Amino acid sequence: MNPLNQTDIFTLALGLKDPWLVTNVEMLPSEKDPMKLEVHITVDWKDGSKFLCPVCGEENSAYDSGWRDWRHLNLFEHRCYIHARVPRVKCSNHKVKTVEVPWSRAGSGFTLLLEAVFLMMLQQMPVSQVARQVGEHDTRLWRVIEHYVEQALALQDFSDVTAIGVDEYSHKGHNYISVFLAHPERKGSKARVLFVTEGKDKATVERFLETFTAKRGKPDLVEETSCDMSQGYRNALAEAFPQSLVTVDKFHVVKRLGDAVDSVRRREMRSKDAEKAESLAKTRYLWLKNQDNLTESQRDQLELLLSTENLDTVTAYNYRLKLQGIYEGCLDHDQAVEAFEALCLEMSNSKVDEIQKAAQTLTNNAVEILNYFITKRTNAMLEGFNSMIGLIKRRARGYKNMNNFKAMIYLVCGELELPKATIM
Ligand SMILES: [Zn+2]
Repeated sequence: MNPLNQTDIFTLALGLKDPWLVTNVEMLPSEKDPMKLEVHITVDWKDGSKFLCPVCGEENSAYDSGWRDWRHLNLFEHRCYIHARVPRVKCSNHKVKTVEVPWSRAGSGFTLLLEAVFLMMLQQMPVSQVARQVGEHDTRLWRVIEHYVEQALALQDFSDVTAIGVDEYSHKGHNYISVFLAHPERKGSKARVLFVTEGKDKATVERFLETFTAKRGKPDLVEETSCDMSQGYRNALAEAFPQSLVTVDKFHVVKRLGDAVDSVRRREMRSKDAEKAESLAKTRYLWLKNQDNLTESQRDQLELLLSTENLDTVTAYNYRLKLQGIYEGCLDHDQAVEAFEALCLEMSNSKVDEIQKAAQTLTNNAVEILNYFITKRTNAMLEGFNSMIGLIKRRARGYKNMNNFKAMIYLVCGELELPKATIM
């Protein structure tokens, strides 16, 4: 076998097939930074080659051609570019069309392999960080995200979805987005975001239902839905998915009592009793976090506070713990109903206003709260989403618009079919 020459090696490495071949490889100093070398690969085709119309596949000779450039994966540490003469064909049905090249999609300045690597990085890192690392402007990366997310969304199939959750997130203050997700179908499978839309009311559920059915989802097969305590979602979900059992998320129920603890604390901080106010100063974190997440000195401080008499904050805090105890300790629905009713009764007789109000909210949502003990839709999964979306939001600083934010949620949480690159 004859040794391969340089251009043959590159033709093979790029996976090019007839009529495409590498005709030249050069290392040139970068225009931006002459101390750095870049690899420039020229790809061409043999005269007389036939090409296909990109619309109908009719075979024709090249009508004319023009030079185009793409960035490819680095070769070692050197930036690498492909330059090629891209032919146009004159199709009898579609007039003059630019032919498709095997290494890139139409309209992109990157090769497919490089885009696949970008997508992998973009699922792990903020866009701005990827942009810096790869030395590209972030708007070019956003165009890659937009293209592949849109392409993957068109392939979504909801025909097997039987359990749906919805949650809202704020974006830049007063803009809300609703995120609809499919609970995992079986143990070990992942939850996935199905649909993201602006707003947090009945209309958002209607928009979801429209998309859901358009993507082969069957509303009558949906057995379970979960949401927060807002009436807007609950009624709309019950209407859209009439066969489903609605569960109010554990996360939102416990958070409701966490909020009550916080408002009691803030009220007592403003009280005329200086000692009381002082003992509560800088303790917000102590009441909000689970005890497991506190440092030893924070735990000592909390213990001291809990033994303080006459603090409504302590009363409220203890109710929050009792509620959590029901979630952690009750083995079945009957047991949970009994414990929950007792707790609501006790809370509604409390002398603390904020606790009475919370008791009212819990009572109003009792059926849906207790459905948790039937469906056992764990919020660990939803909380996972919360933290993931929180992370995306922190990355989202500088997202120019809501569409970018949505695209990022789909990219990271959508379990989409995206091109993958195996480069190592
Ligand atoms: Zn054609």
